Amino acid sequence: MANDVYLQVAVDVPLRETFTYCCERPLPTGTRVAVPFGPRRVCGIVTGPSAPGGLDPARIKPVLEIFDDLPPLPVSFLEMVAFAAAYYHHPYGQTLFTALPTALRQPGNVRLPDRRHWWLTPAGRETPPPAAHRARRAVWQALAEEACTLAALRPLAPQASAILKAWLAEGRVASGEPAALSFREGPVLALNGEQQTVLQALAGALAQGFSAWLLHGITGSGKTEVYLQLMARVLAAGQQVLVLIPEINLTPQLIERFAARFPDTPLVTLHSGLSDGERLAGWVDGWQGRAGIVIGTRLAVFTPLPRLGLIVVDEEHDTSFKQQEGLRYHARDLAVWRAHQAAVPVVLGSATPSLESLANVEAGRYRRLRLTQRAHGAARLPEVQLIDMRRKKRTEGLAEESVEALRTAQRAGQMSLVFINRRGYAPVLACTDCGWTSGCPHCSSKLVIHLPERRLRCHHCGWDAPVPGSCPDCGNVDIRPLGEGTQRLEAALTAMLPEARLLRIDRDTTRRKDDWDQLYQRIQAEEVDVLVGTQMLAKGHDFGSLGLVVVLNADSGLYSADFRATERLFALLNQVAGRAGRADTPGRVLIQTQWPDHPLYQALCRHDFDGYARTLAEERQAARFPPYCSQALLRADAPDLKDAMAFLDRLREALEPLAEGIEIVGPAPALMTRLAGRERAQLSFESCSRQRLQHFLSEAVPQVEAAARRASRSLRWSLDVDPQET
Ligand code: ADP
Ligand code: ZN
Ligand code: ZN
Repeated sequence: MANDVYLQVAVDVPLRETFTYCCERPLPTGTRVAVPFGPRRVCGIVTGPSAPGGLDPARIKPVLEIFDDLPPLPVSFLEMVAFAAAYYHHPYGQTLFTALPTALRQPGNVRLPDRRHWWLTPAGRETPPPAAHRARRAVWQALAEEACTLAALRPLAPQASAILKAWLAEGRVASGEPAALSFREGPVLALNGEQQTVLQALAGALAQGFSAWLLHGITGSGKTEVYLQLMARVLAAGQQVLVLIPEINLTPQLIERFAARFPDTPLVTLHSGLSDGERLAGWVDGWQGRAGIVIGTRLAVFTPLPRLGLIVVDEEHDTSFKQQEGLRYHARDLAVWRAHQAAVPVVLGSATPSLESLANVEAGRYRRLRLTQRAHGAARLPEVQLIDMRRKKRTEGLAEESVEALRTAQRAGQMSLVFINRRGYAPVLACTDCGWTSGCPHCSSKLVIHLPERRLRCHHCGWDAPVPGSCPDCGNVDIRPLGEGTQRLEAALTAMLPEARLLRIDRDTTRRKDDWDQLYQRIQAEEVDVLVGTQMLAKGHDFGSLGLVVVLNADSGLYSADFRATERLFALLNQVAGRAGRADTPGRVLIQTQWPDHPLYQALCRHDFDGYARTLAEERQAARFPPYCSQALLRADAPDLKDAMAFLDRLREALEPLAEGIEIVGPAPALMTRLAGRERAQLSFESCSRQRLQHFLSEAVPQVEAAARRASRSLRWSLDVDPQET
């Protein structure tokens, strides 16, 4: 066998290069193959032809197997991967394999669902099988009614596949791709003036190449309705739409809304809750152009879409668009790059746009559109009031006024929400005598008390231990929970509002797949008076008649060492407040705080996002923080902090000479120094020029890799370009 063609193949390893293999015939770029890598047989993707160069041709290994179950990956997909690898300075092979669904990362052919439809030929229609042949008769009857997939026939007859095969040979059936459905749009809402203006601007941008739009609309202003009407035009033109949404498992209603609007358009959802097979099927449907709409969380940004006509990123400020491990990409930013690549418009929607996007508007890169009114009938913005907790009597964390307001709302038949951003019973257990607190043995965080199970749990690393009967340090039996969590609040409210029907919603009560659906149904059926929940409840759900929102314990975000904490807190509270008064009831929001004069709360009360965003932007500009500088963080962790610090110290020294126009800050211990038994430090690279920073990183990364090879094996490092967490 003559192996005389050389190929470049990318494999899933932490190395920058691709590898040369030989094959008996040329393979197109994007072909999936199996290759030997060390002792293993791994999956590889052909990235182009190769020359043996300095390699000994006798030592170049052959491709072991070629997978032709699917066409080669499209070039535009590989280009996007190459961009992401270069921008985030991540190994190309690892970037490529991150972008692929898990099923395509294995060295084997994949099984795709058989989507062919079968129907009766005129000959088949004329010759029904005898009624005595029950299975054949059932298949024939189903086909006589309409074209069916094999999957639809199997429940009628387990041997459907064999029957069809025989009939195909006899010319009694035929098969093929389902006929493309014509586009159909469900009932639309009549847009208000603002919505019309926005839709006109966006629709005018369709088929006009790349453009980036920030749709800044208050909660409930009808952004989604605008997306839907814009999408209708794209779908009617036979193009595909990509919709990115934050990583939350509470999206069935949103998806239902899309599906109901476009009843004939195949819609695919892609998120981390799917099985490998489901994700593969959806990905391939997008890639093969069968899906008109692809809705997904950040990983969906990589889905190949041959007829892409529009990208929508909803809640663009949401931090879940940034991946925090491996390839640390930002799906919103990649979406904008992708829109540019595909020459289509991208719409970023939010009630509280990120400072990054606002800066892009200022710089003229994005255009801003606004929706300033609530879309629905009489719905008005809620009234936000602060409860000064400095000299307030409180019971289990609740001010008397809050409890009174909850009672009043219940009597008026309105649903309320008590929002607290900590699940569990209480955030820490403490000894009243020696001051011991329940710290996690592996992290610099406290163990949270979960009362029903009587466990202490670390919400960072998952460490779990029984609640001790006495103080482990001094033996004192009077140890007490400090602070509030959702469970404790639920217990306290049950005692204070004995008549009210309570429902707690947090990660613990929504662990299983349909938990949320069931809880949501109870809310819809108005079987709930008071919802107690975490930020899971803040996002994107229309609860109908939510009359009152009480916010507890928000203060911790005010004075965090993370300069982004206030931006996030504002977005979160604005979103929580947005839950109130959505339908025809004007809502009320009570925020309990020790800092009633803080500009953040003052701005919330005035619904003044613009003013607050300006203040934050000025602070960032003065401090030269992102988005007014470009930043990358080099993180290192080791069992011992001093090893991580020493590694970064040496690198700082080595990189200093390269760092023209780059400010190197640190190294410093990370905010949360200890995590899961490892200690973490970081070195920050900052520059007013993104390009210069990129150039510096290209030179720096090989040095970091070399230094890591010399360092102890227990040391790990990662680079985070445009980090979202400090
Ligand atoms: P957003 O995405 O900005 O939060 P939605 O599109 O979900 O807003 O709209 C909020 C509510 O207002 C929904 O119940 C929606 O059905 C309704 N709505 C949106 N646009 C209109 C309109 N033009 N007329 C009447 N109701 C509308
Ligand atoms: Zn003690
Ligand atoms: Zn821990």
